[in-house]
Amino acid sequence: MSLCYILVMTTPETAVHVATSEAEFRRAIDIVYQRIAVAAQRVDRAPEDIRLLPVSKTVPEDRMRAAYAAGLRQFGENKVQEAQTKAEAMNDLDVHWAVIGALQSNKTRDVAQFAHEFQALDRLRIARRLDNQLQEFGRSLDVYVQVNASGEHTKSGLHPDDVEDFLERLQEFQCLKVRGLMTMALHTTDEAVIRQNFAVVRGLRDELREHRPALIGDGGLSMGMSNDYEIAIEEGATVVRVGSAIFGARDYSK
Ligand SMILES: *Cc1c(COP(=O)(O)O)cnc(C)c1O
Repeated sequence: MSLCYILVMTTPETAVHVATSEAEFRRAIDIVYQRIAVAAQRVDRAPEDIRLLPVSKTVPEDRMRAAYAAGLRQFGENKVQEAQTKAEAMNDLDVHWAVIGALQSNKTRDVAQFAHEFQALDRLRIARRLDNQLQEFGRSLDVYVQVNASGEHTKSGLHPDDVEDFLERLQEFQCLKVRGLMTMALHTTDEAVIRQNFAVVRGLRDELREHRPALIGDGGLSMGMSNDYEIAIEEGATVVRVGSAIFGARDYSK
């Protein structure tokens, strides 16, 4: 891959070195954990309460194996086909697979078969299919309900006002284990806007926890990516989904 390509594909904040070796991954992961700890301490939270979900989309198997050797045991992918192919290729490793992107109904069966977690649940039809298929396979799936806090049209996720009803209807699905809410902040450099997006989802979680605790499972909050995970932690994230800050800039050319 040419350097030129890397520069074109990234914003300045994410223009980090593409880690390849186990040692490079150890360094990159260390830095992210340190930053998680510093952000947590700023708001008196315990760093151990924040789970790092490394996002490996577009990263080839050999580099993922190096990352595994460096200690990673879970990977997030936004495309089902890619995730499943990797899960099969790496079934000799002990990996927790998280699907973090929107799901077409013709892909639920695959997810029910191999994934441990699905973080972008926002449609009842998908929930019902997943539950039926999980029953068939005798499996269960951790799910996060995706919330669209930014009000941006193109983003997937439920309007905050619709989340409680949705969670209520999820209760009938025995094989779906609700772990909390997931969101993506608006793509902007305006930190106040990002922070506000996260605060909306945390507020919603707090309210549900207080009034409808049975609906919200662990009450987890999956929010924050490479460019905004520290803000997300300050706003209460319990899971941060970090891709390029660990793996380097993505190569979409293949
Ligand atoms: C790609 C992706 C991430 C990680 O993005 P980075 O900016 O590389 O950290 C997080 N969440 C979702 C849903 C993604 O698709």
